[in-house]
Amino acid sequence: MVTPRFVWGATRVTPGQFFKHIDAARRLGFRFLTLSDYLACSETSQCLAVTFDDGYESVYQYARPVLNRFNIPATVFCIPGYTGQYNTWDVNIGWQRFRHMNWHQLHELQQDGWEIGVHGLSHRDLTVLESHDIEKELSARRIVEAHLGRCSPVIAYPFGNVNAAVWPLCQTAGFRAGIGLGIRRDGVPPEYNIERVGVYLFDTARSMREKILAKNKRFYHIISNIMNVCSNGSVIVKKSSWF
Ligand SMILES: [Zn+2]
Repeated sequence: MVTPRFVWGATRVTPGQFFKHIDAARRLGFRFLTLSDYLACSETSQCLAVTFDDGYESVYQYARPVLNRFNIPATVFCIPGYTGQYNTWDVNIGWQRFRHMNWHQLHELQQDGWEIGVHGLSHRDLTVLESHDIEKELSARRIVEAHLGRCSPVIAYPFGNVNAAVWPLCQTAGFRAGIGLGIRRDGVPPEYNIERVGVYLFDTARSMREKILAKNKRFYHIISNIMNVCSNGSVIVKKSSWF
């Protein structure tokens, strides 16, 4: 999330930090591509794909101007069950609510050259659902196609979670690949568990450069895993709140 607002936790950056991070990547000479173009590219060592999960309105407000300034296309994974609405799917730590982009805003990003994909229909953890509920979540793809004409063939798993039962259903639903946070999952082929590097509030231009150049990879991988465990914490709270 890119926002100037105070947010509990560290899974956000301020607009000023975001500018510095993108500028640091740009100065390293990397070429920025949408995720599909990145995955189709045979020479990815000099390419980067910027991705945003959840499709918050703050991406439209704060990240879009920075990226458009440098003519950088990004990829947004929206939650079609919540477009234009507040994130009531999330546990409400600190009574904070954030609005998701509406279809018009997503369409504008698409016009800018961005790629729009899905992050489930309602941000449920696919690994704890029955098959018919997983299929319902994956139907999000058709909703994006109906509104925007096309949808990314890559899914961003809610909470980064995938397992041996989930990925074949993603394949059947037409997804050619899936991205999480690179945590090893038994029985999941690599193209359905593509690694990403998370960017957090405590990241600096230096740590961004190191992440991009894969320096201290083990250290940053551990940090990513810790942050993912924290986000899974909200799954557990959510589930317990149903009873
Ligand atoms: Zn998410």
